Amino acid sequence: MTSSTIDKLTELFNRFPGIGQRQAKRFVYFLLSQNDSFVKELINLVIQVKQETKYCVVCFRLSTKITDNACEICSDHKRDKTKLMIVAKDIDLENVEKSGVYDGCYFILGSLLPILEKNPEEKIRLRELIERIENLSTGNLAEIIIALSANTEGDYTAEYLGNYIASMAKDKQIKVSLLGRGLSTGTELEYSDSDTIRNALKNRQ
Ligand SMILES: [Zn+2]
Repeated sequence: MTSSTIDKLTELFNRFPGIGQRQAKRFVYFLLSQNDSFVKELINLVIQVKQETKYCVVCFRLSTKITDNACEICSDHKRDKTKLMIVAKDIDLENVEKSGVYDGCYFILGSLLPILEKNPEEKIRLRELIERIENLSTGNLAEIIIALSANTEGDYTAEYLGNYIASMAKDKQIKVSLLGRGLSTGTELEYSDSDTIRNALKNRQ
């Protein structure tokens, strides 16, 4: 039996992060209840955002404002180049930016490491991170801030990264700090409010 278009669309929504079968089906029926102009706008925006968004070659975030392959943060001369914050995902960077308490540079790992991951280099941007630190340290990179979620995978990844960059940081006299656990255990950076981020940054160690 071939599946209906309703089933096929449900299956697509079901692939979205955090969206279960039931919710996926709700999205489909919601779309069906909307008028044609809503659906057309949605389709056009999805195509447009995909065409306009590119990876920044410096920090690896996705942005619609890429000039000379770099995003608006990386090409901003007012940003403090002595600080590099490592975050897992784009949405974490956005949340830190929204808090307005950090004026340094970023690097996006792409993900957290699952516990006991066999191929860390395929899972997160380790080689690219080393390259980024090399490039920044020809300037005056003074501090690397590991800013990951306060959950099991976040802690594991932070420890792995700390070890991975330890000797390089030591050679180049770069301080490596961890975001203070103003983030209570289990908190994901993406859901932390500005006050929490400010405290976590102030209490980094
Ligand atoms: Zn960038």
